[in-house]
Amino acid sequence: SIMPATLSAISNSARKGVLFKGGLHIENLGHVNAIAFDKTGTLTNGKLTVTDAFYDDQVNQDEILATVGAIEKQSTHPLAQALTNFSSTQMNTIPVTVDDMKTIGGNGVRAKVNNQTWRIGKPDFVGKEEANVFYNGILETLASQGKTVVFAKKGDRIVAVFGLKDTIRKDTKQAIKLLRENGVHTIMLTGDNEITAKAIAEEAGIDDYIANCLPEEKVGHIRELKNNFKNVAMVGDGINDAPALATANLGVAMGEGTDVALETADMVLMKNNLDKITNAINLSKRMNRIVK
Ligand code: ADP
Ligand code: MG
Repeated sequence: SIMPATLSAISNSARKGVLFKGGLHIENLGHVNAIAFDKTGTLTNGKLTVTDAFYDDQVNQDEILATVGAIEKQSTHPLAQALTNFSSTQMNTIPVTVDDMKTIGGNGVRAKVNNQTWRIGKPDFVGKEEANVFYNGILETLASQGKTVVFAKKGDRIVAVFGLKDTIRKDTKQAIKLLRENGVHTIMLTGDNEITAKAIAEEAGIDDYIANCLPEEKVGHIRELKNNFKNVAMVGDGINDAPALATANLGVAMGEGTDVALETADMVLMKNNLDKITNAINLSKRMNRIVK
């Protein structure tokens, strides 16, 4: 049976926009000493815009943009939306037929257009060596500004590179600072490259980060964190985050996250209010002292 102190803690925190799916979860939160955060859509708003674009001048720019737009139109990734919007505002319309569209998780997309294979995604996915030779220094420059860098490759030729900027949520820095002051270690998990990850981690003030993290690797990292820290929470918003949310001692979903994340989570930040986590931890600790 549920204790009155637990009930009152659950309803108190619900009023502040932090929802628990049961007494055990609010109790667990008080024991958490490390929290892993997904990057895109969790620490950041997840609304990206294309800020930079470079093209191979041997290839028609409208063809590049039309193809990238048409391929990305079939992807649900937040980057894809930004690239589709960008291409539609920048080019003269050219009809493009996309075949054999395939998403390669954590890497990018591959498709056929006019019997040519196109690849759009991270440097490793298009060939890091080529990406570097072709656009020497651009990757580093954009990434060190915290931008995600996406390459487009037609056949074996890299034809464009894009820089996409996301913004950190307005309460991210405060949330991380409060957690540190309360002795909770913070880690960011991201599929993005090392340089971009470092820039965002620094901006957020987060203790640690893991870059180039494939969606299926998030679970392994949570297990490792559990070995090192014992009681680990994971905060995420995406379908990809659900297995990691389930693996953590406490799974936390962003209120605007996907249904799968919301269903898997033990706790929900109704208004995406990361800065309410520390409050909830302290509430849980007080409750645990009364209930014990
Ligand atoms: P995260 O959730 O941390 O942004 P993902 O695992 O979703 O990471 O993606 C990792 C990287 O793969 C992205 O930073 C991007 O470079 C590349 N990528 C993934 N999907 C796409 C896509 N649809 N178009 C272009 N690049 C993509
Ligand atoms: Mg995300």
